[in-house]
Amino acid sequence: MAMQSKAQLLTEIHTLLRRRYKPKPDRDPSRLSVLTAVVFGICHEDTTREQANQALSRFNDEYFDWNEVRVSSIGEIQEALAGLPDPEEKARRIRRFLRQMFSRTYGFNLEPLVKKPLKEALKVLKTYEAFESDFVTATVIQHALGGHAIPIDKSGQRVLERLGFPENDPSNLRSIVERAVPKNRGLEFAELIEELANDVCKAESPECPRCELRKHCDYPKNLAAAPPPAAHPKTRTTAATKPTSPEPAKAAKKSTPAPTKAKPEIKATPAKAPPKKATPTPPKKATPPAATKPNPKTPPKKPGKSK
Ligand code: SF4
Repeated sequence: MAMQSKAQLLTEIHTLLRRRYKPKPDRDPSRLSVLTAVVFGICHEDTTREQANQALSRFNDEYFDWNEVRVSSIGEIQEALAGLPDPEEKARRIRRFLRQMFSRTYGFNLEPLVKKPLKEALKVLKTYEAFESDFVTATVIQHALGGHAIPIDKSGQRVLERLGFPENDPSNLRSIVERAVPKNRGLEFAELIEELANDVCKAESPECPRCELRKHCDYPKNLAAAPPPAAHPKTRTTAATKPTSPEPAKAAKKSTPAPTKAKPEIKATPAKAPPKKATPTPPKKATPPAATKPNPKTPPKKPGKSK
């Protein structure tokens, strides 16, 4: 697929999703602080914006400041992340980020980075473990640094893959999307893809018949045209024996003695080996007596002839 058609497809997807899921009025376009954007990004990854906002509110309500979160146990931080997927891992990432920041700046203020050029700010931020996630990086660029970035997590990646954008590298996929979707519509596009992922394009069983994008998506067509699901090699062998059970049953009965015959064969090979060793040795012993027989005959003849 050419780049231009990819851009056209993404534009079409955006238009259709905008028609289906009206942009939410509660969306707050105000800028977040860098710290808050990192925590929001960690909370938001692989879940909904609403759940991430709820977690962020709990941090604000239940903790005096970020230093209190930094010195809290993982279990305590997890309580603020209730309802999010993998809260323990998210709690570790948040606390690790706060500890790294405190050890470097003796505080919780990364706002001076906002005034720096985006590349310079990212160079500093990339030294934090939290920025190993492309989703968190894009969230901070979008919500705190004022750059153009469209965060795509695993669910977004799944949706876009089904729509014809198979990219394993999240940053590559993000680059493709960011080239096609302008900055002023980036946040909206990300939210619409999230809506689609949580509404119909679910991981296990996408509800394609009621999807607004079904005419532009090859996934249901490919699914219908695909041959019956290939069974696992192990299940294929068992499945092959089950349907033809009457014949294989006989074969199985025949085959059951086979293994019993096979076992003796294994034992028989060493049994045959000893006779082979035994046969060569007796002939060797027999030949010398054959050679000795003529000797007794020749001596009687010789005296006769000489006479
Ligand atoms: S048609 Fe199906 S697979 Fe394609 S985007 Fe819609 S729900 Fe997902």
